[in-house]
Amino acid sequence: MRQRADELRREGRRIAVVPTMGALHEGHLSLIDRALELADVAIVTIFVNPKQFGPNEDLASYPRREENDLALASARGAAIGYCPSAEMMYPSGYQTQVEVTEVSKGLCGASRPEHFAGVATIVTKLLAATKAHVAVFGRKDYQQLVLVRRMVADLDLGTEIASAPIFRDDDGLALSSRNRYLSADERVQATVLYRALRDVRERFERGQRNAQDLEAKLVVRIREAPGLELDYAELRSADSLEPIDGEIGDAAIALVAARVGTTRLIDNIELGGAAGDKP
Ligand code: AMP
Repeated sequence: MRQRADELRREGRRIAVVPTMGALHEGHLSLIDRALELADVAIVTIFVNPKQFGPNEDLASYPRREENDLALASARGAAIGYCPSAEMMYPSGYQTQVEVTEVSKGLCGASRPEHFAGVATIVTKLLAATKAHVAVFGRKDYQQLVLVRRMVADLDLGTEIASAPIFRDDDGLALSSRNRYLSADERVQATVLYRALRDVRERFERGQRNAQDLEAKLVVRIREAPGLELDYAELRSADSLEPIDGEIGDAAIALVAARVGTTRLIDNIELGGAAGDKP
């Protein structure tokens, strides 16, 4: 991969990378579209990263369909699929870990204590292997996006980090490789997440600005919904993900995680509309 990246760079081509864990859906493919707006060559990486799964999580059952993914990525314009094995990424003797201390705390980090070190480590390795000028991430995994931005800045990696909006199904559910675990009933129950987020955004747009009040509404709405077990529902600053005490000043983001049956889903909505990429 590094050799191929060197060749591309020598040819003066701008490289974008789209890191994924495969089981590609339209949300992932929209990241390839964004990558090709920002660069000449899009590399899609497919790696189900064991280091970002907890001991009781779905590493073994996570959907794997590499051939199909590569065909989809190629049809969408990606020139290269990089699919390393776990042994290639973490050979015997491997011992290095990248940790972004503050952004990793709270939200998903509270229930997934090793997750973000796993993400930071693999993203560092994928940026090194692909030598990408720009990496594209979905705003669906918003904490991950903020973490990667922080890490790239802190470690002077020099890669531009771009993002793409959440791609949703017609009923509002954010596309996720994990949606295929949902039964038909659970699929319907899961749509409460986006409706609850939209409700908070409508309240915000009508002038409600108290973060704790809006948060309380979100919590109640999800707790009362049948079939959902709330993990968190919080309003945070869109840039730093720091908690907001009282009035919302700058752009904020409402983030939720909940279990529907055994499937853990996350979603978020931007309030004030400034969570996109800064020039
Ligand atoms: P994953 O394969 O789930 O690790 O996701 C790989 C990339 O795709 C991450 O940057 C995700 O944020 C992004 N992604 C996943 N689902 C969506 C979606 N529904 N809309 C936009 N981006 C997404």
